[in-house]
Amino acid sequence: MNDLAIDRRSTFNAELVRQDFPILQQDVHGKPLVYLDNAATTQKPEAVIQAIVDYYRKDNSNVHRGAHALAERATDKFEQARVKVAGLINAAEPRQIIWTRGTSEGINLVAASWGRSQLREGDRILVSAMEHHSNIVPWQMIAAQMGATVEPIPVSNDGTLDLDALQGMLDARVRMVACGHVSNALGSVNPVEQIVLMAHSVGALCLIDGAQAMSHLQVDVQALDCDFYVFSAHKMFGPTGVGVLYGKAELLEAMPPYQGGGEMIETVSFAGTTYNQLPYKFEAGTPDIAGVIALGAAVDYLQSLDREGAERHEQELLEYAEAKARAMPGITLVGTSAKRTGVLSFLMDGTHPHDVGMLLDQQGVAVRTGNHCAQPIMDQLGIPGTVRASFCFYNTRADIDRLFEALTKAKQFLV
Ligand code: PLP
Repeated sequence: MNDLAIDRRSTFNAELVRQDFPILQQDVHGKPLVYLDNAATTQKPEAVIQAIVDYYRKDNSNVHRGAHALAERATDKFEQARVKVAGLINAAEPRQIIWTRGTSEGINLVAASWGRSQLREGDRILVSAMEHHSNIVPWQMIAAQMGATVEPIPVSNDGTLDLDALQGMLDARVRMVACGHVSNALGSVNPVEQIVLMAHSVGALCLIDGAQAMSHLQVDVQALDCDFYVFSAHKMFGPTGVGVLYGKAELLEAMPPYQGGGEMIETVSFAGTTYNQLPYKFEAGTPDIAGVIALGAAVDYLQSLDREGAERHEQELLEYAEAKARAMPGITLVGTSAKRTGVLSFLMDGTHPHDVGMLLDQQGVAVRTGNHCAQPIMDQLGIPGTVRASFCFYNTRADIDRLFEALTKAKQFLV
C-alpha cells in the first residue's frame, strides 16, 4: 500500500474524494453541478468506470463456460467480486451472495421463491409504513396468490418506526417482517437489530432492504442476524443493472429457483431437470458481467476510504443542512426522527415540490421531488411529496450553501 492509500484510509477528506468522481467536475445550466440526488443513484468513481472499460476492452467473454483465456479471466474477476461483496457485508460464505438486477429484483426473488413455497392461507407479512414500493408490492403480489396478508407496521409522523406497535402485531401467523434499513424518503435509520430479534421471537423471517444503507453505513449481516439483506450496486457507487441478495445458506438451499434457464441447472432432461448449487441456482442466464466486476471495483473503492470518517462527515453535513433549513422561514422538514442519515426532505410553504426542483435545477442543483416511491407514508402525512436533497460523502458544506442560496432564489420567484 502506498502512502496516499494509507492516508485515504486513515483520514477522510471530502475535497480529495470528490476528485475521484469525474461527473462532479462539470457545469449544469452554466453553474458548477451540485449533486444532491444520491438516494436515487450515487455517482461512480473513476475506478468503477475504468473497470467497465477494461472488461470490454480486454476480458469480454461469457463466464463459467468458456475454454479460453478470456473466459477464464472474466470468470475469475466475476467470482472475485462475489468474494469482495461477501467480505464487505461479512457474509460467512460467497455462495450466500446472489447477483440480481437490483434491490427490487432481490425482494421479488425472495417473495416469489420463499413465498410460493412457504406461505399458507392466513399467514401475515409485516412491512413498515415507510417502505419503498419495492418492499411492498412484491409482498402484495405473492400474498394475493397465497391467501396471505400484508400489513403496515405503524410509523409516527416524524418517521420513527413504532416498535411497541410492532410488538403488538407479532404472533405465530407472522411469517416475514420486511423492513428498510434506511428510509429513502425520510432518511430514518431503523433499529434493524431489534426488528430482526422481534421477528425471530415469533419464528418469522426478517428481510432488510439495504438499498439506502450501503452508501452510508457499514453492514455486518452476521451480527445483524437478518435472514435476507438486499441492495443495489448503483446506490453504492457501482453501476446500474446489478444488485445483491444475501441470504442465510440454509434458507437459500431450501428455496426453489426463481427463474429457469442456462447456468441455474445441473442436468436437463425431459425425464426431469436438476438444479445447480448455490449461488448459481438463482442466476439463470448470462449475467451483467461487466456490472458485477465493476461492483467489485466499487467495493474496493469503499474499502480504500476511512469509512468512520466518511460517516462522521455525512452526519455533520446533515446537521449543517438541517440547521440551515430550520433557520430559513417557510421551510418545513419532513422526517425528523432521532436517527437519520443522508436525506433532507422538506416542503417550502406556498410552493409545489416540482416547481422548487425545477428552479434548483436551473441553478445547477440536482435534487429529487415527488413521493420517492413511498406513497403510503406520503399519504399518511397528507402530502403529495417533498423536495429531497440526499447527500453522500463527496458532498461538502459548499454544496449545502449552494442548495440554500438556490432555495432562497426559488422562494423569491415562487412565493
Ligand atoms: N428500496 C429502497 C429503500 C430504495 O431507495 C430503492 C430505490 O430508490 C429501492 C428499494 C429500489 O431499488 P432499485 O430500483 O435499484 O431496485
